[in-house]
Amino acid sequence: MFKVNEDYMKLPGSYLFSTIAKKVSAFTEANPDKKIIRLGIGDVTQPLCPAVIKALHSAVDEMASAETFKGYAPDLGYAFLRETIRDKVFKPLGAEVSADEIFISDGAKSDSGNIQEIFSRDTKVAVCDPVYPVYVDTNVMGGRTGTYDAATGLWSNVIYMPCTAENDFVASLPKEVPDLIYLCFPNNPTGASITKARLQEWVDYANENKAVIVYDAAYEAYISEEGVPHSIYECEGARSCAIEIRSFSKNAGFTGTRLGYTVVPKDIKTDDGVMLRDLWARRHGTKFNGAPYIIQKAGEAVFSEEGQKETGEQIAYYMNNAAYIKNGLAEAGYSVYGGVNAPYIWLKTPDNMTSWEFFDHLLASANVVGTPGSGFGPSGEGYFRLTAFGSYENTVEAIKRIKSI
Ligand SMILES: *Cc1c(COP(=O)(O)O)cnc(C)c1O
Repeated sequence: MFKVNEDYMKLPGSYLFSTIAKKVSAFTEANPDKKIIRLGIGDVTQPLCPAVIKALHSAVDEMASAETFKGYAPDLGYAFLRETIRDKVFKPLGAEVSADEIFISDGAKSDSGNIQEIFSRDTKVAVCDPVYPVYVDTNVMGGRTGTYDAATGLWSNVIYMPCTAENDFVASLPKEVPDLIYLCFPNNPTGASITKARLQEWVDYANENKAVIVYDAAYEAYISEEGVPHSIYECEGARSCAIEIRSFSKNAGFTGTRLGYTVVPKDIKTDDGVMLRDLWARRHGTKFNGAPYIIQKAGEAVFSEEGQKETGEQIAYYMNNAAYIKNGLAEAGYSVYGGVNAPYIWLKTPDNMTSWEFFDHLLASANVVGTPGSGFGPSGEGYFRLTAFGSYENTVEAIKRIKSI
């Protein structure tokens, strides 16, 4: 008789988005004439830009000819893409990253979920609270989080670093020293960003304590302010302690197309000289057969002059929505955060409502759907996330309705 992996059985159900869906469909059934506006989604809505579509078509045509057909991609990804990333992403930042430290993948979700595999089972993990759920859940699957307390929503063996308005949603250095630290900036769900000076403190802390930082930079392209680092490798010493995870999903609309990459510098080594880079290469070669050639060509096109201009326009479109939401809610008297370097607006619920009370209130009185902050961790209680990924028209209508309640 087979037995299942007991670590999987410890996972609490993923109630957040299914509870939202249930509440919304119950409301729609009871109120069929009401038009719901969804500002809860973390998915892009603009179509792929022309430069990317052109590259896709031409790569498809290459697959039709015996001379240019491609089979399996190289383990790390095609050199044309890794070298383009080195030259177009890291070089302009003054960040020293070589092409063979860049691993092309099918996205940041799988990389941020899989990276824990190369660490020991007794690795002590630290996460920000609220948090992108993938970091914790994959460590649960990896058997290193201890026991779950349903009342608090916390795992006994995880270090939670609260991020609230009091610390500008940037975690303070933990007193109990972790081995593996997950940071995501600009942040989902809070929309917060980190200054280079504060990120440098994290890098110094990790180097002093021989800890590793997993830095999720999926929203890097949304940074609009000076002094906000685009990559952790802008910080001195990051090459010996930081893994950076990137995605084409939010900067170029590849959520359905799938492409991402992870940088594991050769300088991250154990005292015995084992390189994390080599372990990740081993994992990649064993469990992943490469992102499709067609999609890697599309990814390369994002860095062309046309691609940069066109994806830049999409980001500007979403950030115009973000500013509209942020200003509208501020005018209506809400305390609002984020929305400057990220497509997420994080607001304090009014009148001490819980996150779910505000969800119900917003759905019933404004027919607007958002995401309850408590769904991302205990420190998210009393907060609420709206996203800028909708259409401009819907965004304007949603804010008009929220202002009138
Ligand atoms: C959307 C998102 C990603 C991107 O995931 P993909 O798998 O590349 O689509 C990564 N991290 C965070 C925090 C995100 O919100």
